[in-house]
Amino acid sequence: MDNAATTPMAPEVIEEMIPFMRNYFGNPSSTHAYGRKVKDAIETSRRNIAKHLKCRPGEICFTSGGTEADNLAIQTAVLKLGVRDIITSKVEHAAVINCVSEMEKRGMAKVHWVNLNDDASVDMDHLEELLHNNENCLVSLMHANNEIANRIDLNAVGALCKGHGAYFHSDTVQTMAHYTFDLENTPIDFITGSAHKFHGPKGIGFLFHRKELGPVPMIHGGGQERNRRAGTENIYGIIGMSKAMDISYEDLQGHYKHIYGLKTLMMEELRKVIPEVAFNGESGSEESLYTVLSVNFPDSEIASMMLFRLDIEGVACSGGSACSSGSAKGSHVLEHVKCVNKGPNVRFSFSRYNTAADIKSCVGKLAQLMTAEVE
Ligand code: PLP
Repeated sequence: MDNAATTPMAPEVIEEMIPFMRNYFGNPSSTHAYGRKVKDAIETSRRNIAKHLKCRPGEICFTSGGTEADNLAIQTAVLKLGVRDIITSKVEHAAVINCVSEMEKRGMAKVHWVNLNDDASVDMDHLEELLHNNENCLVSLMHANNEIANRIDLNAVGALCKGHGAYFHSDTVQTMAHYTFDLENTPIDFITGSAHKFHGPKGIGFLFHRKELGPVPMIHGGGQERNRRAGTENIYGIIGMSKAMDISYEDLQGHYKHIYGLKTLMMEELRKVIPEVAFNGESGSEESLYTVLSVNFPDSEIASMMLFRLDIEGVACSGGSACSSGSAKGSHVLEHVKCVNKGPNVRFSFSRYNTAADIKSCVGKLAQLMTAEVE
């Protein structure tokens, strides 16, 4: 129940990758047949990913994952596009927050933090005000939040950015292959993906960039990735990511129905056994990221040990404790959310491999824990 952290690889993805470990081991930069075979597979994957996202293959640059892709977008804006002001939010992923903060620390850009509403959604009026006051800036706002499932409308934010001559980057790591994209018709300059969030392998992702905004390389070396990112390509990663995307987009609606069904079941079951339960951010709403539910429990004796006890019970989920007292690890996201209860916050996140039985068993264990005396 921790699929926002990572997802299990689909068996079909593994099957697709194996021949490139076992047989086709050429270096894609080699001009002989061994190399050409692998180079072909990389370019086929690139075209396939571009087809799914409705962009051009040359606009996809493979990276080691979402973190690198976010860094590449932000650094390109600063180093190549003359951006000196970056507008972003305090609930972005660390890949964005720490990158923009580093740019500021080095004196290369100033960061403007957009105000957030009580549920940590973006205050659109303040965004507009910041855009009005800062020329040629970069806006970096995530498509969906990995902890509290808040989503932004890429078209609306993109149109606002374009109206003010700003570049727009969105971290789409949590929505990639979970929602459809039509990049040709979306006013956006950079988005990012990471295969391990949609049943692909770890250590591979990509940056989409508008054709004319080719990234400034962060890694220098050979001419791979059309001089955007040096180093011998992660061949099986790329092939696995492309296959994982195929599977997701083949039946996106079916996966959505299944996973959203699990999320609503979890909410219903929780409300039955713990009536005071609340849901953080927008995660309880229909429009939120359907794979993530952030649960705010009432205080109980078990509160400080909840994650630990769930782990012992075989339930993997993730914590975030800004609203609870006396806990060791805080969440930089939950700090910006007004929680209803004083108890622990737990993020449950689902995939197409979860079942209704998983949900019922998890809620059963939670109910037992909440009522149990601490020994
Ligand atoms: N952005 C978001 C929203 C994420 O959830 C993650 C992963 O946790 C990342 C970026 C980083 O991706 P990666 O693990 O591929 O570096």
